[in-house]
Amino acid sequence: MSVLRGVGIGQGVATGPVVRMAEAMPAPQEQPSTLSVEDERTRAREAVAAVAAELQQRADAVGGAAQEVLEAQAMIAEDPTLQDEIDTRIDQGSTAEWAVHDAFAGFRATLEAVGGYLGERAADLDDIAQRVLAHLRGVPAPGVPDPGHPFVLVARDLAPADTALLNLEQVLALITTDGGPTSHTAILAREKGIVAIVGATGAASLSDGQSVIVDAAAGTVNDAPTEAEIAAVEERLAARAAEDDVPAAPGALADGTPILLLANLGKPSDAADAVARGAEGVGLFRTEFLFLSASQAPTIEQQRASYIELLQAFEGKKVVVRLLDAGADKPLAFLNDAHEENPALGLRGLRALRASEDILREQLTALAEADAKTAADLWVMAPMVTTVEETAYFTALAKEYGLKTAGVMVEVPASALLADRVLAHADFASIGTNDLTQYTMAADRLLGSVASFQDPWHPAVLRLVREVGDAGARLGKPVGICGEAAADPLLAVVLVGLGATSLSMAPAALGDVRRSLTAHSLDDARRIAQAALAADDADGARDAARAAAGS
Ligand code: PEP
Ligand code: MG
Repeated sequence: MSVLRGVGIGQGVATGPVVRMAEAMPAPQEQPSTLSVEDERTRAREAVAAVAAELQQRADAVGGAAQEVLEAQAMIAEDPTLQDEIDTRIDQGSTAEWAVHDAFAGFRATLEAVGGYLGERAADLDDIAQRVLAHLRGVPAPGVPDPGHPFVLVARDLAPADTALLNLEQVLALITTDGGPTSHTAILAREKGIVAIVGATGAASLSDGQSVIVDAAAGTVNDAPTEAEIAAVEERLAARAAEDDVPAAPGALADGTPILLLANLGKPSDAADAVARGAEGVGLFRTEFLFLSASQAPTIEQQRASYIELLQAFEGKKVVVRLLDAGADKPLAFLNDAHEENPALGLRGLRALRASEDILREQLTALAEADAKTAADLWVMAPMVTTVEETAYFTALAKEYGLKTAGVMVEVPASALLADRVLAHADFASIGTNDLTQYTMAADRLLGSVASFQDPWHPAVLRLVREVGDAGARLGKPVGICGEAAADPLLAVVLVGLGATSLSMAPAALGDVRRSLTAHSLDDARRIAQAALAADDADGARDAARAAAGS
């Protein structure tokens, strides 16, 4: 047996046969065909028809939003103009492969030039062209495979479009050779509760059909498990399923200290799942996710309807809504119109909102109106707050609209270092560890090449969290955590030891974090946090915390 290592997401374990995701294919060469025009035309026609039928079949099977995406793709594949373009190239002596490649590329450029809705469909054409080419070459289509049985998916990384279509009944676990703990794949895996190991470079050696055990807690892949090992995993899975059937208790440490366990949500329709998993409220509602594809600012009425739906799902409970966090990886056309060389360091978060204060005021209006019509405990917070002055500006503005509890997200070292002065002007702070890590470590959270720096276990990040925790304790103000770090069961204990009073995470992570908290008292958590703080680097902090926790 050999063991492959990577970064585990969550605490799950899974076992099953590997299915590899096919890599994108190289573009065909332009060369004259050796077949007749009629034969090349037939090859092209059959391949296009087969791909359209396959997309339609998948559309019928998945339902929901994914169905619409796939149906639109099936229609594009058989577009008559596109077919004419393919035929014209074949008539001029091209192979079917080249004709398909070139015709799709031309069509893509046309759609991009039209812009708007059609422009947004341009990227879909690449996927369809790759599928048709795969058919012509008789190789598996790129993208998420569908072998018809449960499997462990092995990929270099997943594109957002692939992730939207992951069939959770079939994908037992996910292993990627690229990506770090805050990559899109990792965030999505956490959100969907998929057992995952990212950045497992050795996984390139796994082959189709090979049986593996994926252990996210250990960050390992056993690539030749024995029958006894597989049986042990199956037992573990059955025990977990039984535990999940027990209704969730409120979050608390072993000594009874309450730690509110909250959900990170992007749309109101995800509320029911969060409640079912025992969320005690919402610690981060990412409002920008509602409007990512909008070209114009949403109206007060549109916003109010979404906020009412969210608040109604959490009657009597705390719901922290973050004002639009636009910019960098989440640009909103109506807030970020200027090109910036370094958008993560640009006009984003509260800076962008302040530059369009009318949009900020409209959002506060919609929130205040939704609050008046519902019975949740609404807290509002501003994203990417850097200075004391910005804090005072935002909280005063929120109060102007009658919003009782207004706070800030601490995601920039500057606001963490001055947390005592920031908190003097805010009702609470919520630490966004994803951005706080990015800015502390000077490592773009989207860039695989610096993923190893993007580790919230780094003692430099932990020290900043301690600054905020200490300031909160001195001033008697709540300090929450709402970055991905809160979803790591042992790091969650460390964060509590550093002063966090609530933890907010993807709902799928709540069970594991709840279990981990109950195993440690507040004194334990403080001791474990001290051990992590004393380390030189992220791996050292993780090891020191494990040793101090006795795990
Ligand atoms: C964060 O930065 O940690 C955070 C919670 O915000 P987002 O991931 O949406 O930037
Ligand atoms: Mg952030």
